[in-house]
Amino acid sequence: MKSSFGNFIPQSLYMTPILILLLRLFSLLAVYILSLSQLSAQPLSSTYPEHSKTPLLAIVVDDLGNKSADLEFAKQHWPLTLSVLPFTPYGKQLATLAHNNNKQVMLHMPMQSISPLPLHPGTLTLDMTHHEFDQVMIKSLASIPFIEGINNHQGSLLTRHSGHMKWLMTLLKKQQLFFLDSRTHAATVAEELARDSGLLTGRRHVFLDNSLDSESLNRQFNHAIKLAKKKQFAVAICHPHKETLQFLKQNLFQLQEQGIKLVRLSDLLLEKNHVVAKAF
Ligand SMILES: [Zn+2]
Repeated sequence: MKSSFGNFIPQSLYMTPILILLLRLFSLLAVYILSLSQLSAQPLSSTYPEHSKTPLLAIVVDDLGNKSADLEFAKQHWPLTLSVLPFTPYGKQLATLAHNNNKQVMLHMPMQSISPLPLHPGTLTLDMTHHEFDQVMIKSLASIPFIEGINNHQGSLLTRHSGHMKWLMTLLKKQQLFFLDSRTHAATVAEELARDSGLLTGRRHVFLDNSLDSESLNRQFNHAIKLAKKKQFAVAICHPHKETLQFLKQNLFQLQEQGIKLVRLSDLLLEKNHVVAKAF
């Protein structure tokens, strides 16, 4: 006959290793939770340290569509981004060729300048009503196929006017297009309003070919490389000059040697937004 007392001792002795095991599990769990909380206490930017990724460069070729020689830019194998003027004789052909060659196509939208330059067809001007403004934009977008975003052609006057830029960004948001500020005036508000409107957006950092001599082209190209390395991203704009095409043919191989990746503009903007979002 077993007493209840006799049964109690062996049971409690038997329970001891289980209790020790449970205590160990709890302590391990506590250490794990503590280490997790320490990780999340670190600023998020430290999990995405600067310069940890390959620096990106986007090269946008502006002012395309007026001459047959512009088609050469669409035939090249690099991932250039091609920005085509509306209502141009070669615009549609160029955009189609570019798209078929895996290049990103943008609309290079003419906007009014401070200086009285001759206005390109479809130029957005300050004296337009909201309705006129939207009509010009819609017709311009329809004049070129495969458009994924826009940037301003000229526009040193218009890009400083927040009312007109708000009209523009509202329309682009509806059409799900991105916006690049060419920054033809330091007081432009276009990029800021694009961001406020929730568009994928960014700005031009370097003009590659304002001068076409090789010394100047080299200087600007090296400046773009330096910026990309320093900031992780750089956006350069160039134009369809034969000197520019020749320069790109002879020098783009350097990017890979310097550890820089040439990408379509929207890829750069998406990556930039991702890193900025993670850092804050
Ligand atoms: Zn332009």
